[in-house]
Amino acid sequence: MLIGLLGFQGAIEEHELILSSLGADSIRVKKASELIALDGLIFPGGESTTMLKMLEFSNLLNPLQSVLSQGLPVMATCAGLILLAKKTTSPVQKSLGQLDITVKRNGYGPQYFSFCEEVSIESFEKTFRAVFIRAPIILSTGPSVHVMARDHHGHPVFVRSGRQFGMTFHPELTQDDRIHRLFLNQIKKNSRRELCQDIQNGIT
Ligand code: GLN
Repeated sequence: MLIGLLGFQGAIEEHELILSSLGADSIRVKKASELIALDGLIFPGGESTTMLKMLEFSNLLNPLQSVLSQGLPVMATCAGLILLAKKTTSPVQKSLGQLDITVKRNGYGPQYFSFCEEVSIESFEKTFRAVFIRAPIILSTGPSVHVMARDHHGHPVFVRSGRQFGMTFHPELTQDDRIHRLFLNQIKKNSRRELCQDIQNGIT
């Protein structure tokens, strides 16, 4: 399995280590041609304005929008989630507009108010230690978006819409790989389903 990591800036290496420990290959994506042959994408946390500028500079906005609209699975964390969101506030910022949520950047306040919290995630037996670093707050979710976990205020912190997974925290900064495993398992399930459909349609 090959996962592309948006490779300009942010917590990239930490995701790479988890992916390789789970037996998945990864490449850093910095240009459109590197989107070919991917089974999934990860948008890491970091600084969304910088990433957006790099996406524009590298002419990656349209190619990303098109592979995501075609159903390429994506896991977006923190700044990555800001890029994936339909609407961004505080300040308003352009985005890929894929996931039907509105996010408020630095929603909990500046760096000083970064924190860790045990969150209960749907289908996980034990809580997950979530690391929030200048995290966004999800202000609203559209009808296609399912909330998998909330913080102690009740704000959604882990959402899913079909093949798109989004977290306001950094799952790569703990030793706990359950979220990455969930994402990879979902990709495997989908590709099996697609293969069955292709066989039924006589393509394979
Ligand atoms: N506050 C950052 C932004 O707006 C996101 C922080 C993070 O990814 N940890 O881009």
